[in-house]
Amino acid sequence: MYPITHPAFRTLIEKSIPLERLEKRLRPFNCSQAGFLGKDESLLEVVYADWKVVEEAGTTHEEIAELLGFCQPKSLSDSHQQEAIEAVNQRLNNEYEFFLTGDLTNGFQKCPWPGCKNIRGITLGLLAKRGAIKPDESLHDLAEPEEVITREMMIVTRLLPHLVGEHYFFEGRGTPYRADPTFLINAFNLRK
Ligand SMILES: [Zn+2]
Repeated sequence: MYPITHPAFRTLIEKSIPLERLEKRLRPFNCSQAGFLGKDESLLEVVYADWKVVEEAGTTHEEIAELLGFCQPKSLSDSHQQEAIEAVNQRLNNEYEFFLTGDLTNGFQKCPWPGCKNIRGITLGLLAKRGAIKPDESLHDLAEPEEVITREMMIVTRLLPHLVGEHYFFEGRGTPYRADPTFLINAFNLRK
């Protein structure tokens, strides 16, 4: 892991676009209405702090991205959905559960980094601490970001494995689609 001030760290995160323009694209009401990064957050600081969490747990962005990939059914047919649910449940800590919701909220979301135009994400599922979702609650309502942000759950989108694996990015703290690495490390038993 590079120190946060190392030019190579910045280059790794910027990829194809200068940092200031990238941050602007990530903020609310640019590439996405909800925003990938809070209006005052620094992208490098967010990525750096999350990187430390990943490293201290003894896992990698690649490992987390692969697990998030299991949350992606090949299609929304019943058999593919069942296959994905089983694949995730096999790997999930017993205190967590996974639900597929299909494309219930905002349609698709392209990756905000230029050059990743074909990576699109739709809202696909919810990872939740067991008991966080009451049996009589509608998954449709819960897949709304305003709900998720205050509870022990997170939304899994198709874009997420790409953001984590390719951009080392779990989204900003307090943004509705953040995939908190501590939550994921606990959910998938990734601590060494
Ligand atoms: Zn991308």
